Amino acid sequence: MAILIVAEHNNNILQAATLSVLTAAAEIATYDGDSELHLLIIGHDCQAVVDMAQGIAGLSKILITDAPLYQYSLAENIASLVVSLVEGTNQELKQIQDAKQAPFQSHYSHIMTSASTTGKDYQPRIAALLDVAQISDIISVESADIFKRPIYAGNAIATVQSSDSIQVITVRSSAFEPVPLNTSSLDDAKQVPVVELAVQADYGKTEFISAELTQSSRPELTTAKVVIAGGRGLQNADNFVLLDSLADQLNAAVGASRAAVDAGFVANDLQVGQTGKIVAPDLYIAVGISGAIQHIAGITGSKVIVAINRDPDAPIFDVADYGLVADLFDVLPEFTNALKAKE
Ligand SMILES: Cc1cc2nc3c(=O)[nH]c(=O)nc-3n(C[C@H](O)[C@H](O)[C@H](O)COP(=O)(O)OP(=O)(O)OC[C@H]3O[C@@H](n4cnc5c(N)ncnc54)[C@H](O)[C@@H]3O)c2cc1C
Repeated sequence: MAILIVAEHNNNILQAATLSVLTAAAEIATYDGDSELHLLIIGHDCQAVVDMAQGIAGLSKILITDAPLYQYSLAENIASLVVSLVEGTNQELKQIQDAKQAPFQSHYSHIMTSASTTGKDYQPRIAALLDVAQISDIISVESADIFKRPIYAGNAIATVQSSDSIQVITVRSSAFEPVPLNTSSLDDAKQVPVVELAVQADYGKTEFISAELTQSSRPELTTAKVVIAGGRGLQNADNFVLLDSLADQLNAAVGASRAAVDAGFVANDLQVGQTGKIVAPDLYIAVGISGAIQHIAGITGSKVIVAINRDPDAPIFDVADYGLVADLFDVLPEFTNALKAKE
């Protein structure tokens, strides 16, 4: 049997989330008689991603489909390609099978990808086309068919078991360490075999119009080692400069509570929590954030949580490893200046 991991990438770089999905897949493989791990890369002009994937230890095969149709990860087209692979109707695969004069047998036990916006878009379609359930947002692997996943905004953890023949899974990438990626040049003899798959017909009912991407010199919120988030306590957009100065000192990403986003202090792509981003940094600093359950749902994977709040009864202190009851307008400049003085 084999486990299929659908890679997340931007046609140039393999996203770190996929490396975490590979860790989850490798854990399943140990329960599943050492299954092979196959990485599927669907994109356009994405040879750089294939080259990066060659640096992943433990892969048995890289499958690739490179065509303009796949440039923008439209869910319907990804789903039909994955299903053609799993059901053995993909023309390229058929040719390989015909050459071997052996009937095709679907040998994928699991189809896995990260619980990102893109993964959450195509994975349910794949499950529906295969007529199996989807298992969402797993945070731990208990066996080949038993997983843990958060429910009720992270307030309870459900243990789920699936009896489907193919398990379609999204993985909360912050819950698994990424597999190491070897970026040094690789010996040709150690290259993972690459199989090209045939392009499927365009679904035709969705089309890519445009993308508006935020450009930032800061680390990406979901993968940053340090995150500093501000809440309504910052009072206005201008005061977020206090967080920016501290973030510059700590090479941190800046996040925010929903109240800060709704009040227009910062853009909504900075929102952390149940309806925002899930973060799992080494250090999370919550500034002027009360600690509503919907916010906590996004930060429980953080290794160390520090809270700065002037209200000693704020619920954020219940989950914080270190708490400072103080006025943020006194503390933040002091903190930043102390770090600058150490440079
Ligand atoms: C369905 C649903 C989904 C939601 N999803 C999310 C989500 O994804 N993320 C999220 O964050 N919220 C989410 N919320 C909103 C959530 O319930 C809270 O309303 C929100 O998190 C509150 O944000 P806050 O802590 O910034 O504001 P507040 O609750 O108003 O807290 C502000 C805090 O700042 C402190 N403060 C004020 N001034 C200072 C000062 N000078 N110095 C120090 N401290 C100070 C106060 O003591 C207070 O604790 C969701 C709500 C619902 C219903």
